[in-house]
Amino acid sequence: MQKGNISVHTENLFPIIKKFLYSDHEIFLRELISNAVDATQKLSVLSSRGEIEGELGDLKIKVSVDEKAKTITISDRGIGMTEDEIEKYINQIAFSGAEEFVNKYKDSTDTQIIGHFGLGFYSSFMVAHTVEINSLSYQKGSTAAYWKCIGNTEFELGKGKRKNRGTDIILHISEDSTEFLEKWKINELLNKYCKFLPIEIEFDGKVINNPSPIWKKSPTELVDEDYTKFYNELYPFQEAPLFWIHINVDYPFNLTGILYFPKSRREIELSKDRIKLYSNQVFVTDHVNEIVPDYLMLLQGVIDSPDIPLNVSRSSLQADSNVKKITSHISKKVADKLHELYKKDANEFENKWESMSLFVKYGIISDEKFDERAKTFCLLKNINNEYFTIEEYINKISISQLDKDNTKVALYTNDKDKQFSFIEPLLAKGYDILLFDEPIDNHFIMHLEQKNEKLQIKRVDSAAADKIIDKGQILESVLNEDEKKTLTDLMENQFDKEKFKVDLQALSPDEQFISIIKNEFDRRMREMNQMGGGMYSFMANLPEKYDVIINTNHSSIGKLVKETDELKRNNSARQLADLALLAQNMLYGEALNSFIKRSTENL
Ligand code: ADP
Repeated sequence: MQKGNISVHTENLFPIIKKFLYSDHEIFLRELISNAVDATQKLSVLSSRGEIEGELGDLKIKVSVDEKAKTITISDRGIGMTEDEIEKYINQIAFSGAEEFVNKYKDSTDTQIIGHFGLGFYSSFMVAHTVEINSLSYQKGSTAAYWKCIGNTEFELGKGKRKNRGTDIILHISEDSTEFLEKWKINELLNKYCKFLPIEIEFDGKVINNPSPIWKKSPTELVDEDYTKFYNELYPFQEAPLFWIHINVDYPFNLTGILYFPKSRREIELSKDRIKLYSNQVFVTDHVNEIVPDYLMLLQGVIDSPDIPLNVSRSSLQADSNVKKITSHISKKVADKLHELYKKDANEFENKWESMSLFVKYGIISDEKFDERAKTFCLLKNINNEYFTIEEYINKISISQLDKDNTKVALYTNDKDKQFSFIEPLLAKGYDILLFDEPIDNHFIMHLEQKNEKLQIKRVDSAAADKIIDKGQILESVLNEDEKKTLTDLMENQFDKEKFKVDLQALSPDEQFISIIKNEFDRRMREMNQMGGGMYSFMANLPEKYDVIINTNHSSIGKLVKETDELKRNNSARQLADLALLAQNMLYGEALNSFIKRSTENL
């Protein structure tokens, strides 16, 4: 029996590993089982090269818990280790990795940091005070090896008793980690981390994993039912997905996976049923929200890439160039699929649009490249349930809905019933009205305006029907400049300047004499602020903004300007202003009272 001391200068190696190696202690099981899987796969490789004679036998990895002895054992039938190999792989490499780790993080307070130092095996000391290894190498004539370490830098290494090829790792669980001796807990962890590992894993006599999950297969081997079944396995109790994308890339990075487009995600619920990230079928995390852009988080499914580093902190994962490439690849794949679906069957696509629009709009706003690609399939829907691509729609309104500056004015409602009184006169003029009723639409609309020249998008209550003028119908004002000045002064006196902006317009004599409309920009900012984000939070304290449009060509306005008796003129101006306010449901209290009094007197 050889005894020795490992040359680590840091005295407190294990306490530090315990504290900083992983923020989640439960990871130890994933690490040890991954090692067992590796050892088993190495064996298969050697066997396929003819370097091992005879049958390999049952290669299952077995996990067992002995509650009385307070141990967890992980047994594999992989390549095993000789004494020399244990010395080399477990003592030297791991300890040097550990030393590096300790030196780097001894002063660190960031418990999220997960070093990638080949320390997987040592994660066992997060939950165990003593660890034993019993191993027999596959190599001809090997003798069994035994290693034991009691959680300090001392170890024992010598001859062991194992009779057949493979390795047992025996963990003697510490007092503060006894939860891991409960079978349900181990079951839960196996389910979480090992469900799709490529070698069968047995616990309590049952195989707990599916060693060949469908994302590893070729799409040509699979039928729709395979995909929906797998979806159910991942997310039980959910409605069938709308469609899916099977990702299979070898170059320039390795990436496989299946992404599902869930049915009806009208809300952004990023917290549940997320994409699961795997590295070589080992579960890494489903907290991918810090890695992939938010809009991709609306998808579900599995992404597996050995190029995704398994044991690194989240911030370095974000900065990782492979992760970035993977993300942009996924975004492209999704856009291509949506394009293909739209091309194949536009009707079918329109029927599904409701479930997809949030995703597409979110993608358009947050990802330049996706925006570019989405031009071919992002749809706008009008209140007659007709669908248009953005380009088609802009063409549609480019002659019939222009304002005096030749800007195209698209109109929309977010509530057909509530805004009926605004919609009706616009429809009567033959204008088209879009439906934008999702929380994301204010952002989406801003984006459309930014990306398309001379396009304004106005909610029906912000767009007086008369402000949009068919080309060639721009009218001359019947008032001269002096009269306009008088009128402006007069009307500005009737309204609170903080809230109302008076604007003279030469409209048709049949249009309203005064219309008060909500300022589109102001309203949008307010709503965006309410949605959160805080960017416009200063607005909460500012008064709401309105535009007061005075039709200089209306006969009542003409009369008002021509009135020479100042008292009468002020009285009429007040009366007209109040009528306009009343029409908008904006006249109440004392103002309403004096309006009624004045009206009665006038009668
Ligand atoms: P890593 O797995 O990152 O290399 P570990 O500390 O987990 O680091 O393991 C160190 C080495 O010990 C492995 O690379 C492997 O050679 C050896 N090893 C660990 N577990 C086993 C096992 N169950 N069977 C055979 N070899 C093993």
